[in-house]
Amino acid sequence: MDYYEILGVEKNATKDEIKSAFRKKARQLHPDVNKAPDAEERFKELGKAYETLSDDEKRALYDRYGEDGLKNAGYSQGPFDFGFGGINDIFEAFFGQGMGGGFSSRHDPNAPIEGDNLRMDMKIDFMDAIFGVEKEIKINHLEECDECHGTGKDKNAKETACKTCRGMGRIQQNTRTILGSFTSVTTCPDCNGSGIDPSSNCKKCKGTGTIHKEKTVKIRIPKGVDSGSRIRLANEGNAGKNGGRKGDLYIVLYVKDSKEFIRDGVDIHTVLEISMPQAVLGDEVIVKTVDGEEKIHIPQGIENLEKVLIKGKGVPYLGKEGQRGNHYVTIKINTPKKLSGEEEKLYRQLFELSKKTEKNGIMEKVKTAFK
Ligand SMILES: [Zn+2]
Ligand SMILES: [Zn+2]
Repeated sequence: MDYYEILGVEKNATKDEIKSAFRKKARQLHPDVNKAPDAEERFKELGKAYETLSDDEKRALYDRYGEDGLKNAGYSQGPFDFGFGGINDIFEAFFGQGMGGGFSSRHDPNAPIEGDNLRMDMKIDFMDAIFGVEKEIKINHLEECDECHGTGKDKNAKETACKTCRGMGRIQQNTRTILGSFTSVTTCPDCNGSGIDPSSNCKKCKGTGTIHKEKTVKIRIPKGVDSGSRIRLANEGNAGKNGGRKGDLYIVLYVKDSKEFIRDGVDIHTVLEISMPQAVLGDEVIVKTVDGEEKIHIPQGIENLEKVLIKGKGVPYLGKEGQRGNHYVTIKINTPKKLSGEEEKLYRQLFELSKKTEKNGIMEKVKTAFK
């Protein structure tokens, strides 16, 4: 069987063409609609063809090597199994978005629903990002209602059937299309699918099973985090429903700038201004690192903007105990703008002296360059 023929598209069909061809055929062949004896078999084939041709990688394999190519690549070629995308596409094909109801377990009002994940942005100090810190934060989240224990029902009220859906939890709608008339089922808007009259809802949470509550959460921010680092706190998000698990809380960090240090990943940079004589003769100088004061050696004859390395005084690698980046001190040589009388005298002496030595030096260089 040829997948393109099954879908009724050309070999060079675009993804959109394949999708719309699939929807059209799925409507015709769905076993709930089509009572022909081979409808189910053809529907499965259609699903298989669509699954392959809607996936770039599988389609390329199929185009070159046919079904054997897919098999060799490890793609299952057994009965068409509805992948996550597949089944959603099929529901979409039938009911359009937002209309699916009553078919998927998601719409069972008593099925467990996972709580939402929460995200919170947090600013932390420069040093705290380097050495880690413990923080307490307040978050507003949904907690299980303590009145009804998450059921959303008032235990003293008598449950009566929802009048809108007569206890069905669903409403049937007939939709006429050019392909025929379909009955679609939607969740009852009055009881949210429970089938129970909303007057018996828990008064505290109005039937949602959850209530807004502020809570304090302790978090440990590890060493070496940076702006954009995310910390996941499992089960600290919103409460689920009907026994569904709680969501998680994600803290996204923003690290404040420092006045003294520039951070570049795991490295720290600072600038040190030194005098002309210091640059010429070298010196020992105290600089500030994130660990405190540190003595560094400025080598004789250092150039402007040259960097002095202080190994291991940078930022710890996140999650790697004991490993740290480096600190780089960029040297800026200050040219004096004002000179005392004595300084000027000395500089003039140096000037005269350097004229002689420099001249020789330059002439040597010119000579070698033209050799
Ligand atoms: Zn409640
Ligand atoms: Zn209802």
